[in-house]
Amino acid sequence: MSHDPNCVFCKIIAGAIPSARVMETPEAIAFLDIGPLNPGHTLVVPRSHHPNLPAMPDDLAGAVGVLLPRVCRAVKSATAAEGLNVLVNTGAIAGQSVEHVHWHIIPRHRDDRIAWPWKPSSYDDADLEAMRSQIAASLAAEST
Ligand code: 5GP
Ligand code: ZN
Repeated sequence: MSHDPNCVFCKIIAGAIPSARVMETPEAIAFLDIGPLNPGHTLVVPRSHHPNLPAMPDDLAGAVGVLLPRVCRAVKSATAAEGLNVLVNTGAIAGQSVEHVHWHIIPRHRDDRIAWPWKPSSYDDADLEAMRSQIAASLAAEST
């Protein structure tokens, strides 16, 4: 189990900083975000310190992943949300402010204050194929 003494989520997991916990398992905890985008905004956080999703071991990602549907159902039901956004910010450029991987479960209501959708772009056929083959090659290289 990795632990970073300077990490705010490691401090929460250790009980050194209080949190409003809704779930605890051997691998992860879930607690209310202190700055909710909507009431009930919940964070699912593995106990072991890994700075972001790409840095996570596969088996731990699996152990956290299986908890997500259950937490989503509970948050949706408790908040009477019409929907949810489930997201993992990765890197400061993508809005990650706490470098301990975590999943946001954000309840959504009609006409709430969250600005979505992001503005999509598009590919031409050549760019689509170039991007597909680059990512597929990276995945193939990792699995050999
Ligand atoms: P990020 O920006 O890294 O994707 O999300 C970090 C989240 O952690 C933010 O939404 C922020 O409000 C929340 N957060 C930061 N510090 C604390 C804390 O001490 N307690 C709780 N409950 N949430 C925190
Ligand atoms: Zn940590």
